[in-house]
Amino acid sequence: MRVAFIGLGHMGGPMSRRLAEAGLDLTVSDLDAARAAPALERGARLARSATEAASAADILITMLPTPAAVEEVMLGDGRALDALPDGALWIDMSTSSPAVADRVRILADPRDIHVLDAPVAGMASGAEAGTLEIFVGGDAADLEHARPILEHLGDPERIFPVGGHGAGYVVKLMLNLLWFDQLVATAEVLTIGMRAGVDLEVLHRALVEGPTSSRLLARDLLPLLRHGEYEEDFSLALAGKDLRLAIDLARAVGVPAEVSAIVEQLFARARAAFGDEAGEMTPVRLYEETAGIRLRLPADEEQAA
Ligand code: NAD
Repeated sequence: MRVAFIGLGHMGGPMSRRLAEAGLDLTVSDLDAARAAPALERGARLARSATEAASAADILITMLPTPAAVEEVMLGDGRALDALPDGALWIDMSTSSPAVADRVRILADPRDIHVLDAPVAGMASGAEAGTLEIFVGGDAADLEHARPILEHLGDPERIFPVGGHGAGYVVKLMLNLLWFDQLVATAEVLTIGMRAGVDLEVLHRALVEGPTSSRLLARDLLPLLRHGEYEEDFSLALAGKDLRLAIDLARAVGVPAEVSAIVEQLFARARAAFGDEAGEMTPVRLYEETAGIRLRLPADEEQAA
């Protein structure tokens, strides 16, 4: 089975490295060829373009930043879709929109090219460790065909079939939307409590043990609270893209999303203040700077949960 992987950034870099390490027949491609190094060092081949990569693939995986990039790779100038052999499978693992994949699928169907959307959660550290959660939309038979490959990338117990085409994107966007909403609400609560004189460690522990605890509070926030890391492996530019896609989806299905609209504006403010490449947790800094504090726990504290 020949596999091609396009998009070798924070996520695609370690994911392709894992596939090469597993000994798969792998071809990789990125606009920035330097990003292919981890996979090439482990036996993958470098294609000069997305089209060249697709032309020799039974399975094509894309891990691209935006729906526009997915559309450009699949249907743009090079048209990787045209180069894919008949009967191949395209798995889009990007956080993208169902609309772009729909356009590809309409052209893919007559050539028996199968399509899955399979976006992921678990951050760059999960991509490194092969412990991603994967939300798969599309036909069950295609998922079974793809499963041996996906199991090199994600936890086999957490490869979730979530519905028909596009459902994977929807689940992933909703997961991120709730996470971003929680991030802002959590920053607000911690800042108020700390400014009101409560020790942050005490407040954090009470929240972790209380009825509104979350994985974000108990785990994801700890690198920031302990070490001041705002999660630079996931940029504010990409977080803003996910928020926009989620709110566009809400609009498309006629559900008002007032809370998330405010959260999106806070992310936009953080992006204006700290730049596109700042980490996804940077909106917390807005609260810290407004209140003149830093939300920090002692660096050596044991994991709260
Ligand atoms: P990134 O910006 O680090 O990497 C994207 C890569 O795609 C870059 O190497 C870029 O050169 C390449 N690229 C862009 N356009 C291209 C094109 N036309 N042809 C070939 N290569 C092209 O992004 P990332 O953080 O790896 O995220 C990738 C996807 O995964 C995004 O959709 C993101 O929302 C999602 N995601 C990211 C994380 C995370 O923690 N970083 C977690 C879950 C999901």
